[in-house]
Amino acid sequence: MEIKRIPTQIGSMSLVGIINPQYPLSWGNYFSFSPAYYRCINMWAENMEEWALTNNASDIEVAVFDEKWAFVVDERVPEEWLYPKLNFTGGPWPKAKEMKEMLDYAGRPHSDWLCGCEEDEDSAGLGGGGSYRDTKTNEYVHYTLCSMCGTKYETSRKLIT
Ligand SMILES: [Zn+2]
Repeated sequence: MEIKRIPTQIGSMSLVGIINPQYPLSWGNYFSFSPAYYRCINMWAENMEEWALTNNASDIEVAVFDEKWAFVVDERVPEEWLYPKLNFTGGPWPKAKEMKEMLDYAGRPHSDWLCGCEEDEDSAGLGGGGSYRDTKTNEYVHYTLCSMCGTKYETSRKLIT
């Protein structure tokens, strides 16, 4: 891990529409920085852009892991502008040992992104996932899946209205 200051510039990002943004957003689009192509794992694109704009910040301090992932550690960024859990969607997927290193650094439990069945440090952690409708409770259930043993982990439930 290496601490670096990199430009507050977005290279690529997901494009989920956000209606009536109220900053800071608790959920937004994931992104990679540019020209350093680090996938940001703890801040949404909208929050980073808005924070940089209102603070006239041309750079931001990040902890870089394996030249792939950037974890914002800039003390100018208030905590509520960050995403407390990590997010890896759409980026390079960490191996178990890389995931542990980042979760430890972020002070998050390993169960956020690891099943516990991974015996090989090079194996993948919780990957894909999806959602289904629970017809008994009439809820949408989102889950992630262990790519090693196939165990399903529920991440959220929402009543269908
Ligand atoms: Zn597993």
